Amino acid sequence: MSILVVGSVALDSVQTPFGKVDNVLGGSATYFSVAASLYAPVRVVGVVGTDFSPAHVDFLRSRNVDLAGLQTVEGQTFRWSGRYGHDLNTAETLETRLNVFATFRPQLPQSYRQTPLVFLANIDPDLQLDVLRQIKHPRLVALDTMNFWIKGKKDALTEVLRKVDIVLVNEAEARQYAGTSNLLQATHEILALGPRAVIVKKGEYGAALYSKGDSAALSFFFAPAYPLAEIKDPTGAGDTFAGGFLGYLAKTGAVDARAIRRAIIHGSVVASFTVEDFSMDRLRNLTWPEVAGRYEEFKRFTYFEKVED
Ligand code: AMP
Repeated sequence: MSILVVGSVALDSVQTPFGKVDNVLGGSATYFSVAASLYAPVRVVGVVGTDFSPAHVDFLRSRNVDLAGLQTVEGQTFRWSGRYGHDLNTAETLETRLNVFATFRPQLPQSYRQTPLVFLANIDPDLQLDVLRQIKHPRLVALDTMNFWIKGKKDALTEVLRKVDIVLVNEAEARQYAGTSNLLQATHEILALGPRAVIVKKGEYGAALYSKGDSAALSFFFAPAYPLAEIKDPTGAGDTFAGGFLGYLAKTGAVDARAIRRAIIHGSVVASFTVEDFSMDRLRNLTWPEVAGRYEEFKRFTYFEKVED
């Protein structure tokens, strides 16, 4: 199955305790596509300015990413700059410049309109809604967002939350959206809007699934994060988690509860590679055997014996 993604295609400037990069390839749709294309064909909806290097376009094409829905317009590409301190779980945004995204209105190519899996990556919720209106009968729609949109566009975000199946957010975003520090209450508030599941990303502490169901055993699932000796740059961890997650569902064609649990492990595996280097550098040479090998390691991390009577 193919996956359609709408989100930012960006030039990022990032500082971490381990180094600094300027104007490197970034963006929620870009990170997502590079990860998900390890599993399945990806179609991108977005916009870049005339300053966007053709080398980035060539790289995405080399990953079998369909760019028919990526417009190039006069002006500057979206730019984000951020900083991480020793707590690598939280990014501090220094600057967000929407640039060509400020006036962008997506117009989906005909070839995109029947895509079965849709990822509304982190971007203006009005653009997420615009894309959803143009898609015919998707099998599954997932959404990501961030503090910038929760603060600035909560009403539009709530409208789109009512229309999606799975929500992926980090811990702080779930709390901020619901206005409560209790994560279970926060996820229940989001589930009450309609989605069947909320996946909460907790950085180096893993990811948790909260879904509708009567008992915790059926509605809760938890995956650890891969223990890494060296993390250089956490940027893109969330988007590539989503890429591994939806990529796996697209590859297998299943979207049931068991597939969703396995997909969460795939998300955790791909995200663990992303953070090993700056920008997309680790993803550029990531191979399928490496992904499969780490998936097996995750199985061993979380296996335990039955209690003896
Ligand atoms: P994450 O996976 O959460 O680390 O996402 C990092 C990416 O999100 C960066 O490459 C940024 O370019 C992008 N980004 C940051 N702020 C925004 C925003 N307000 N809207 C869309 N994308 C953003």
